[in-house]
Amino acid sequence: MNVPVLVINCGSSSIKYALIDTDPEAPRLAGIAERLGSPDACLKGKSSAGDKFEQALPNADHTQALSAILERLEGRTPGAIGHRIVHGGEKFTQAALIDASVVSAIQATAALAPLHNPANLAGIAATQKVFPQLPQVAVFDTAFHQSLSPTAYRYALPESLYAEHGIRRYGFHGTSHAFVSQRAATLSARGAGGWLTAHLGNGCSTCAVWNNQSQDTSMGLTPLEGLVMGTRSGDVDPGLHAHLHRQLGWSLDKIDDVLNKQSGLLGLSGLTNDMREVEEAAEQGHEGAMLALDVFCYRIAKSLAALSCALPSLDGVIFTGGIGENSPIVRRRVVGLLPHFGFALNEIRNDAMIRGQEGKLDSDQHTGPEVWVIPTDEEGRIAMETCHCLEVQA
Ligand code: AMP
Repeated sequence: MNVPVLVINCGSSSIKYALIDTDPEAPRLAGIAERLGSPDACLKGKSSAGDKFEQALPNADHTQALSAILERLEGRTPGAIGHRIVHGGEKFTQAALIDASVVSAIQATAALAPLHNPANLAGIAATQKVFPQLPQVAVFDTAFHQSLSPTAYRYALPESLYAEHGIRRYGFHGTSHAFVSQRAATLSARGAGGWLTAHLGNGCSTCAVWNNQSQDTSMGLTPLEGLVMGTRSGDVDPGLHAHLHRQLGWSLDKIDDVLNKQSGLLGLSGLTNDMREVEEAAEQGHEGAMLALDVFCYRIAKSLAALSCALPSLDGVIFTGGIGENSPIVRRRVVGLLPHFGFALNEIRNDAMIRGQEGKLDSDQHTGPEVWVIPTDEEGRIAMETCHCLEVQA
């Protein structure tokens, strides 16, 4: 079934939306309602003519924001709603048509994503009010990684923590890793084989994909595990929490806040969580920024090397996300840290990559593993999975 899909990504005080038409060439209507529930709530977006708009929505809640979004769809009617849901636990291995049982299953998983799943559910409730006639589909960030084997997803912890409390690695950014690896399988002569994907944005994760299936990934129980991110630390010694508590008297809430919001590029550089600013400051010799860039790239390379153990053979690496798509510096550094993989990055192609472009960055006549940039399209993938789910149900 191919229908226009309104993709909704609902946070506790924001709603991102995109209307994905059945015609891939049709301009996308997209935007974000922010600071919901506060006096300075507003809706920002782009019309199909490409004009930007900003509309004040003082004290608007999710339902009011969705009504304002509906007004911005320029009379185009969606045939379905696709919701990005952060955590599907072990229950959801693919997208699901939303009914009461799916809502309760998402509720039951809220303990694993206390910040995200309740907000996603608020989005579903508001959307059902504003678009009561439309089918709604839940597309999970975790679902793509449900193909991981216990070897990859189990922590070396007592069995009961897994069996009774669901403590295991789940992985996130599934729609992005799925999209770019399947795109590479289509674009590359090597097809669907062994691909390492690096989604590098404000949140960052890597994934090993074999034959279009996730084998392992860097994020775990929560999206804090793994790489250095904008404000998230990524991997630290699990003993750190006890150490900070005992030595500095920090509460768990404070430690959680520091690791999630004050670490990563921001913590290391002491300046910013924005990679463009980190690169500029590093260029000017700022020591914190140079260290942040070094650690960021080293940890990506280390993660890719580790994940290569999950693949029988390697066909290439794919960079995506705001940093992966737009930073030749990060791509060059990461590939440079993996000399034994046999990549051959063409510096001119790497530097010439234009925002939004996809392509292979290899030197001519190179026959080893490839290096690709593929812009991610999480909204497009959610729309595709929404249509597929409706088709299966029909
Ligand atoms: P995302 O979360 O995917 O939107 O990615 C946001 C990150 O991409 C931020 O750290 C930005 O600084 C980074 N980014 C965007 N454009 C560039 C660029 N031209 N060079 C380096 N980093 C960039």
